[in-house]
Order: sequence, then structure tokens, then C-alpha cells
Amino acid sequence: MPQLLVVVGARPNFVKAASIVEAARRAELSCVIVHTGQHHDAELSDVFFDELVLPEPDVHLGVGSHSHSTQTARIMLAFEATLERIRPAIVVVVGDVNSTLACSLVAAKERYPVAHVEAGLRCHDLSMPEEINRRLCDHLSSYLFATSRDAVDNLVREGIDRRRIFFVGNTMIDTLVRFREASRARRTAARMGLAGRRYALVTLHRSANVDDWVVLESLLSTLVELSRILPVVFPLHPRTRDRIEHAELGAHLVASPRLVVVPPLGYLDFVGLMGDASLVLTDSGGVQEETTVLGVPCLTLRETTERPVTVTHGTNRVIGRNPHRVLEAAVEALGQRVSAHALPELWDGRAGERIVERLHDELYAALPSAVAASAG
Ligand code: UDP
Repeated sequence: MPQLLVVVGARPNFVKAASIVEAARRAELSCVIVHTGQHHDAELSDVFFDELVLPEPDVHLGVGSHSHSTQTARIMLAFEATLERIRPAIVVVVGDVNSTLACSLVAAKERYPVAHVEAGLRCHDLSMPEEINRRLCDHLSSYLFATSRDAVDNLVREGIDRRRIFFVGNTMIDTLVRFREASRARRTAARMGLAGRRYALVTLHRSANVDDWVVLESLLSTLVELSRILPVVFPLHPRTRDRIEHAELGAHLVASPRLVVVPPLGYLDFVGLMGDASLVLTDSGGVQEETTVLGVPCLTLRETTERPVTVTHGTNRVIGRNPHRVLEAAVEALGQRVSAHALPELWDGRAGERIVERLHDELYAALPSAVAASAG
């Protein structure tokens, strides 16, 4: 019987889980990886397994892209059968994607303890599908691992027992720390002809930014405008590419030679480019955190963030999506020097270790003492 079953499904999950799987390997806790197939292609999935040295998934549920409800339901059905077969001691879920909620719901109903990594983040906007996933998953979990103190406070305010909440730091940052040198070695900016030049890096894929064509068009024209100030590298998420094609907005992508549209990048190339960028514009959760640690100015094109620590302790500004405001904020950020700042507490590259240590203790505390002694 494996001790941990780690669920992964989408791009940010691979980055977060890599640290936990590695820490489990070092602690000799047996660990099974279940990939739901929420993201299933080479660009959003395979490259992360290769670059982050994640072992191949033990089980692949192969669910694929669907509407939120269909995807969640299909993951639940497939995961129920898998869980029954594997019978782990603890189910570990990360982040806030549909796989996170679907698997925690099945595990809780089947009375398996759930450990939620990145618990307690709240943007207080239920129109964001990820916020629904976060809230529900937290209330189904037995162990809640938080990346920041504000997340701990959110959980306490929602009535979750403090004894189940553990402030451990950020596993996405563990992976950043671990692979930062390897990302530099790829010299991605130089390979793109951007060595020593100022450029902006952009990611967009949140529903609020790409599903409504009026919003999407306004954002794309803003990027074209921005490219008159400096080159803009835009790795296009498949979801955003589909929306652009569907709304016939492709002309914006070729409107300026300095708007460089590329496919989604592998982790090392993306982190390398992010580290050398003068400015990042994004609606990604993880990118807000990574730019904070890299000390690169970040403009978040959303109305809210569930990661306020990146604003109070980092380089992030949450500026919405009004074109004038975005361009004004970009010019302002480019004109400022990033002052040295202390990193958010416990974002030190060791969160995965702390999580595994806690789960190890919980596992062995649950065993009768003679068994624990022989196993330990
Ligand atoms: N990322 C990447 N290639 C890209 C864009 C992002 O490797 O082209 C990485 C990024 O460094 C971070 C993660 O993907 O580690 C963030 O994933 P995403 O923005 O899809 O999800 P979110 O964090 O918003 O949930």
C-alpha cells in the first residue's frame, strides 16, 4: 500500500508537485502519481515531466478538455475506481484546478485523508472557477498546507480547525529555486535575439480575460501598443489561442513585428525568460509568485489576487485590464528600479520537505507504536 497518492492534472500542478514528489523520494515515503489528463499535450504536460525530473505517472486517467462540470465529473468517475484499487494512506492534491476539487471530493467521500497543498488562498470572487475549487477543496481536507500567513488567517476565519493548518511555504518556489541555474543555462533570451535588451513577457489564459471577445480584443490591442515601447514576448496558452481563433482576432497577433507570439514554453525556457525580462504582464497565479522571487516587476491584469503577499512583499501590482491603465503602469514600472526586498516568509525552497515531514509524522503517529518503530 503506497503512503502518498499525489494527484496532478494541469501545468501549475506539475511545478508544485515536483517538489513534493522529490521530498517524498528523499524521505523514502512511497508515492504514486495519478495524472488526470486535464492538460494532456506535450506543451502543457510532457515537457514538465522531462524538465522537472518527475517520474512518469503511475496512472493516467486520460480525461482531457471538456466543460468544467463534465471534466470534473469524468475525473471523479475515473478517480473513484483508481482510489479503490490503490488504497493510499493519504491523497495529496495541489493548487486550485478542476482535478484538485474532483479528486479531493472523491477521496473525502471514500474517507481517505486529503492533504491540500496551497490551501487558504482567496480572491473572494466566485465568478472565478478556481476560487470555487479552492474553497471546496479546503473544506474537504484533513491537512491544509498554506503558502502564506494571510492564507492561514482565511482558513481560520472560515472555521477550519487550526490544528489542521500548517504554514509551510511555497512548493512552486521550491521548484524555482531548484531549477533556476538550469533555466539560466538555456540562455533563452539570447536564443530569441533579446540578449541585453529590455523586453516584456506576457501570459494570459484566465476565463475573465479570454472568454469574452471584447475583453480579449482590448487586451490584444494593448499588447500591440505596448510592443511600440519594447519587444513583447507572448507564449500563447492553447486555450487563449482557441479563443483568438474563434473570435477571429488573429490579425492582432501579427500587427506588430515586436509582438513575438510563441507556443507555450517549457518550464526552463519560461523561467529563464522571466528572470531576464524587464516587465511581466500576467493573469497567472504562479507567475505572480515567481516574479516576486525573481525580483521582476509584475503587472497582474485582473481585478483581484488571491496572493496578496506578492503585492505586500513582492513586485506585483494588481491593475485590472483597462488599456490606459495597463500602458501607464507598464511605463511607470519600466522607469523604476526594483528595490531589494525580503522574500515572503518561508519561501525558501524547502516547503516540500516540510510537507513531507508533517505527513510522515502523521502516518507514523497513526500506526501502533511497535509497527511504527519497525517501519521508521
Ligand atoms: N509556465 C511555463 N511556460 C509558459 C507559461 C508558464 O512553464 O509558457 C509556468 C510558470 O513558470 C509557472 C506555471 O507555468 O510555473 C504557471 O502555470 P499557469 O499560469 O498555467 O497556472 P496558474 O499559476 O495561473 O494556476
